[in-house]
Amino acid sequence: MKRSTFLKLKLREANFISRGLVSSNHPVLAHIIPMRRCNLACSYCNEYDKTSDPVPLEEMIRRLDKLADLDTSVITISGGEPLMHPRLDDIIRHIRRRRMIAGLISNGYYMTPQRIKRLNDAGLEYLQISIDNIEPDEVSQKSLKMLDKKLGFLAEHADFHVNINSVIGGGIKNPEDALVIGRRAIELGFSTTVGVMHDGEGLLKPLAERERRVFYELKGLGKSEYARLDWFQNNLADGKPNEWRCRAGARYLYICEDGLVHYCSQQRGNPGIPLADYTMEDFRREYDTEKWCAPLCTVACVHKVSILDNWRDPQKPLNAPVSDKTGKPDAVGDMLRAE
Ligand code: SF4
Ligand code: SF4
Repeated sequence: MKRSTFLKLKLREANFISRGLVSSNHPVLAHIIPMRRCNLACSYCNEYDKTSDPVPLEEMIRRLDKLADLDTSVITISGGEPLMHPRLDDIIRHIRRRRMIAGLISNGYYMTPQRIKRLNDAGLEYLQISIDNIEPDEVSQKSLKMLDKKLGFLAEHADFHVNINSVIGGGIKNPEDALVIGRRAIELGFSTTVGVMHDGEGLLKPLAERERRVFYELKGLGKSEYARLDWFQNNLADGKPNEWRCRAGARYLYICEDGLVHYCSQQRGNPGIPLADYTMEDFRREYDTEKWCAPLCTVACVHKVSILDNWRDPQKPLNAPVSDKTGKPDAVGDMLRAE
């Protein structure tokens, strides 16, 4: 990444973080799905299919315009595999045209020097690739062996920030692979994060002792983002719940290929309202609603976004009775919830 691009990106980051701290009235991050189809078939994944068509560019532009009108700061394009969308570059260009930060999550298989240069030209600012193991197996083909050459292309040509995420838990056979992947990422000049594998609702699958050891060793690697996530990931690694306020449906939005707003990739169907009809009333309701799945949630991006508001605006459970006088949930509501 060129130094000038890096400095511009840091300035834009500082701007969206300070805006997010000053006002809680806009989405900070939206994940948007331009295509559900994927070229791979990881056995733990519930976010892909093999048949769906790309969402037409005109429709994607309508959705991006709505997100820009809601004053969204960052858009991350996800999938399936977004690089299979024939108009991905135009989608990225439109995000930048509307002055939002443009990110992409990809499995990296389609990265070639030419494709990376096209992403540079379109104005991509962030890329994340998750790598699950060293050798491909029946669980995952997102392997260092298959992707190392692609990482080399990225190190040489990308004019955007690259983060490599390694995963621990679930069906991943050798937790020690995550250490090799993290070290390789750092060697190539990328940042690294670790993901703790979740179940089908985004919740923690307890880590075995060996996995916990690797997790803590990964945290010791330099140039990583682990420190910023300590407060929730340490608890999860130890199998403990977290106390936090999930602002999904408000500060974080997940927009599926059908254009519906969901809490996150693992809690689809809630609230399930078309983005085109999403109002600030929906935003405020979800901002104020406590999520049942929060204590054992492993969805890192929502944790990160919610940090901005963790110190303010306590939440109430869905449909909690509200006191007429105070506008806050009353004691009866608390008691019913305890039941
Ligand atoms: S590459 Fe990503 S989207 Fe595709 S199957 Fe694997 S985890 Fe799912
Ligand atoms: S707590 Fe929030 S981010 Fe986590 S699974 Fe529930 S709705 Fe999704």
